[in-house]
Amino acid sequence: MTATAQDVTFTIQRSETPKSAEERAEILANPGFGNHFTDHTAVVDYTVDADGNGSWHDARVEPYGPISLDPAAGVLHYGQEIFEGLKAYRHADGSIWTFRPDANARRLNKSAERLALPQLPEEVFVEAIKRLVAEDQDWVPSGDGEALYLRPFMIATEAFLGVRPAREVSFRVIASPAGNYFGGELKPVSIWISRQYARAGRGGTGAAKCGGNYAASLIAQMEAESHGCKQVLFLDPFNDNAVEELGGMNVFFVLKDGSLVTPALSGTILEGVTRSSIITVAREMGREVVERKITLDEWRDGVASGEIAEVFACGTAAVITPIGLLKDETESIGSEDAKAGEVTMAIRERLLGIQTGKVEDTHGWLTRLA
Ligand SMILES: *Cc1c(COP(=O)(O)O)cnc(C)c1O
Repeated sequence: MTATAQDVTFTIQRSETPKSAEERAEILANPGFGNHFTDHTAVVDYTVDADGNGSWHDARVEPYGPISLDPAAGVLHYGQEIFEGLKAYRHADGSIWTFRPDANARRLNKSAERLALPQLPEEVFVEAIKRLVAEDQDWVPSGDGEALYLRPFMIATEAFLGVRPAREVSFRVIASPAGNYFGGELKPVSIWISRQYARAGRGGTGAAKCGGNYAASLIAQMEAESHGCKQVLFLDPFNDNAVEELGGMNVFFVLKDGSLVTPALSGTILEGVTRSSIITVAREMGREVVERKITLDEWRDGVASGEIAEVFACGTAAVITPIGLLKDETESIGSEDAKAGEVTMAIRERLLGIQTGKVEDTHGWLTRLA
């Protein structure tokens, strides 16, 4: 599905009832994650005409509020939906920047291809974010570890119960102030090994960022929480229990010799922008990074022998989180009281430094939003 005749001129309809400065300040004092939303949303609609030609149109920023959807809209029945996640950071001089939005735009289009949704021109993706953040700049927090989380998503809006790709689609961006995930302290998390449930299979949607993958992971996440764990580790039981990823984060191992290993992209793993940035940054820091298959057996044996020195998870929301303990009903690997590793912390600091303007951006990864 290709889109033609792009009209990417955004019209702006300002909210007549934005939150007051006091309300906003109260929210920004303790934003948490995903609890509060800014005053506006960006929208671009897509329609396929009678000749089968699709086009994006009616690009706009409008007041944040409920979406009016026909009850037969495809997204509500067949889950034709994809999303992205990135952040806007306020630098010390007050300017606002985002990190590698082009990579998120490309990934959205990869996901769109898999979910039979239309391709969105990368410039429209970036423009939507720029326009939204321009309106809602006062919502970008300035505290340590804080950012404005941006959530672009694409949904099938056409009212039609037949099973085929929707001919009416909407791309939207909402924004939510996000606090410091760890309240300053970086504590290693405990991870539950999911034995009964998978998040992805060969030929499935594991490499796409779609809501359905998350819906399918919730039961495993609940199981993890009932065992005192924060996150789930998914394995590939048909491939020697190869380590795949957590519900929404990729995984890295730091070996005794200082090199890094991360599971190779197998088609069932989501390629994180954080993952790929860490590979680049770690190599610049003089470390070898290998993308290969790594099994649960190797994790267990490696921690026991000392061959594996550190393990961490990574993703936009929490950046880098050390993994302390890995467990299921029968075994425990690592320790709950483990300290965040030195290499983990050094990479985290470098990456966060680039994102927040404290370390020079030699890759052109930052895009100024306001
Ligand atoms: C979004 C996501 C990640 C992390 O991707 P980033 O681009 O680094 O935020 C990892 N795994 C899954 C399943 C995801 O949905």
